Amino acid sequence: MISSTHISIAAQYIRDGRLVAFPTETVYGLGANALNPHAVMKIFELKERPSFDPLIVHVATVEDVKKLTITQDERLDILAEKFWPGPLTIILPKSEIVPNIVTSGLQTVGIRIPNHPVALDLIRQSGCPIAAPSANKFGKISPTRAKHVFKQLPGVDYLLDGGKTQVGIESTIISLNDKGFEILRHGIITQEEIEQIIPYHAFEQNKSNNIVSPGMLKSHYSPNKPMYLLESDLPSTIDRSKAGLLSFSGEETSGYKVVEILSQDKNLRTCAVNLFAAIHRLEEANIDYILAETVPEKGIGIAIMDRLRKATYKYQPIK
Ligand code: AMP
Ligand code: MG
Repeated sequence: MISSTHISIAAQYIRDGRLVAFPTETVYGLGANALNPHAVMKIFELKERPSFDPLIVHVATVEDVKKLTITQDERLDILAEKFWPGPLTIILPKSEIVPNIVTSGLQTVGIRIPNHPVALDLIRQSGCPIAAPSANKFGKISPTRAKHVFKQLPGVDYLLDGGKTQVGIESTIISLNDKGFEILRHGIITQEEIEQIIPYHAFEQNKSNNIVSPGMLKSHYSPNKPMYLLESDLPSTIDRSKAGLLSFSGEETSGYKVVEILSQDKNLRTCAVNLFAAIHRLEEANIDYILAETVPEKGIGIAIMDRLRKATYKYQPIK
């Protein structure tokens, strides 16, 4: 367990311009002082993340959000009231104190207040906003346990082990336009939930998966061994006895060498919590490839299928 001493030491690391991996409710983040461009540069280096892929900034209060942004948009307060602290990132026009390296040169910044006591305490004790992408190598599986961070980023300066994360997939990202909000990345906060308080309006060119957000690539979250969706055109050589199955609810598991069941009662929230840890275990298992069942693509299922499509993209036999 993390003691307050660990958090104080980690906060000193952040103030010193070093990197700290820490738990949030979504996944583990790789954090640096967002106002220190040299510290932020180290995130890109350690993750091997391309510089065109902007970082999300984590703060503890709505007042801090306002310092880092220039907006009079009342929808910010409405969203903050309902969803923060929580797994919602909002893209807003940035103020000049946010270094360009954080936003990859964009005039907007992605920002959120995480709902995790360790993350909030770390931000408060550091005394600065913390830029933090997920604590994994670029394009690889996101970490939902401290050991996942250590597996991919052993070079991190300090790692706060807060156990298993409670949401399991990355935050929902939205941007605001004149007519409403649009979703840049799906998460456990769904379009329907946000629509209860502000209207949804996607720009024509952004509809049907054509979302404009740097860093949103077709391939992401990939394990180090081939992974395919069971519903796709599988290579003819596939042998189930050498495969691991990522099963939605455990209904049809016979013939596989290893099986990971996401949620026996078909609860999509549970699936999200278990998703990345199951893929990490399959990556480490003695199997040749991973086959993944699909989940119903509605509500939280949209976010889960987004992760599964991206995880399997680079292994697709036919593109
Ligand atoms: P992560 O690596 O999980 O922290 O995700 C960060 C993602 O947020 C990036 O890959 C971008 O797609 C998105 N993002 C961050 N900042 C912005 C921004 N200013 N405008 C649009 N998308 C952003
Ligand atoms: Mg990430």
